[in-house]
Amino acid sequence: MKHTGPIVSQRKAKKVSGEEFTAQVMNCETCGYAHLDPLPSLEELGQFYAYHFYEKQKPDYLEKMERESEYWLETYKWRFDIFKKYISSSSPSFLDIGSSGGFFLAAAKSRGAQVQGIEPSDKAADYSRKKFGVDVHVDLYEKCSIAPQSFDIIHSSLVIEHLLDPKHFVQWSFDKLKSGGIFVVETPHEFNAYQNMLTQKMGYEPWYIAYPDHLNYFNQKSLRRLGESCGLKAEKSLCAFPMEQFILQGMDYLRDGSLGLKAHQQRMAFELNLLKNGGADLLEKTYESWAQLEIGRTQIAIFRKP
Ligand SMILES: [Zn+2]
Repeated sequence: MKHTGPIVSQRKAKKVSGEEFTAQVMNCETCGYAHLDPLPSLEELGQFYAYHFYEKQKPDYLEKMERESEYWLETYKWRFDIFKKYISSSSPSFLDIGSSGGFFLAAAKSRGAQVQGIEPSDKAADYSRKKFGVDVHVDLYEKCSIAPQSFDIIHSSLVIEHLLDPKHFVQWSFDKLKSGGIFVVETPHEFNAYQNMLTQKMGYEPWYIAYPDHLNYFNQKSLRRLGESCGLKAEKSLCAFPMEQFILQGMDYLRDGSLGLKAHQQRMAFELNLLKNGGADLLEKTYESWAQLEIGRTQIAIFRKP
């Protein structure tokens, strides 16, 4: 398959070997979404995931989730309640692909779902079993044998941007979904209005290019197009907190890394205060309006299998 299209973004990056080069993002007309060009080789990705990801890049990932567990569990319960509105069963079957430390599985289970996770990191899968007593397959999704039409809800957060073949991932999920079931995908919301302002008008490097782990760079339109090309119907698009707003209001966590945690804590406080004080519907409407305004750091697309 030949990838063609304009290069829309680039920045200096490092290969896994340490070699410096310029990573480029192409708005690919063949694929219908933006991705790295050239894509890293399978060999380079294998080396990266075998060692660098959980061991080096995210050494304290699970500890951090644990410290913030109130936030993650509460917001994931809230998100699950939104997804459940699309399903008639009061005890839906739920699959989380890339279930990480099992926080989403735990939230869904507490809301009555029958849950199953798929997670390539055995450290994260172990943690989920011990902490939450949930069932997790340790493997890549494409290696799991799951019968077609098994689930009411399939969810995946921060997975699709890492995959060499996102279309295969959506097709695989479509196959495992029951008719009328929903597929929910969360991925960074790239080329959002704030991000474009910072890179195009304010001299910021496109910091969001993450080589080699983020291969694909979706906006809302290209994500919707991908789902629809696999036979899904787009139901709703939500966007999570527009983190770039902190930069625009003078709290520049890109130039001063120590502000990153503070920005994250303020975002968590905002959402938790809404959820604890009767603001669940207001938060959902806020996420919807961020999507309409094309701001928000990640996007959550809800699709239905007809
Ligand atoms: Zn392409």
